[in-house]
Amino acid sequence: MIAVLFPHFALLRVELIRPTGCTVRIQARGREPSAACPGCGTVSRRVHSGYERKMSDTAISNQQAILQLRVRRFFCGSSDCPKKTFAEQIPGLTFRHGRCTMLLRTVREAIALALGGRAGARLAELRRSESARTRCCGSSGPCPTRKSARCESWASTTSRSSGVTTTAPC
Ligand SMILES: [Zn+2]
Repeated sequence: MIAVLFPHFALLRVELIRPTGCTVRIQARGREPSAACPGCGTVSRRVHSGYERKMSDTAISNQQAILQLRVRRFFCGSSDCPKKTFAEQIPGLTFRHGRCTMLLRTVREAIALALGGRAGARLAELRRSESARTRCCGSSGPCPTRKSARCESWASTTSRSSGVTTTAPC
């Protein structure tokens, strides 16, 4: 069922999906036992450590979705590689330093290119697929008002820059 509803999670082992307030939190980890070093391409299975990474995803039934991904850091096995360790990336889902999934980034870019500025911010707000809500709130408490000062601040920032996606970092 998850593969049908969330095809971009195909390489994840979803462990828990739980609603918290107006947010759906998804706890997951990668399925693959190894990962390729981004520096040299060497595949490693030696895990150095792990940590949790939170990222926004596209809305689920108009509820904000937060992916809580357990990420492993691997040792690179190549003595020639400048990287001693590296964090795994999930192909098609995550990217380096990204705070949203690749799918959400694609949606944001499409909105920004089509509408830009305030119109794009309003549409993203309605879709709850991110925009200011997740960035300025992201809490599990009561749903915030749509006109919070920080949200407005983000909207005006985006508007000034004509919706360039770099103003809406993931
Ligand atoms: Zn390497």
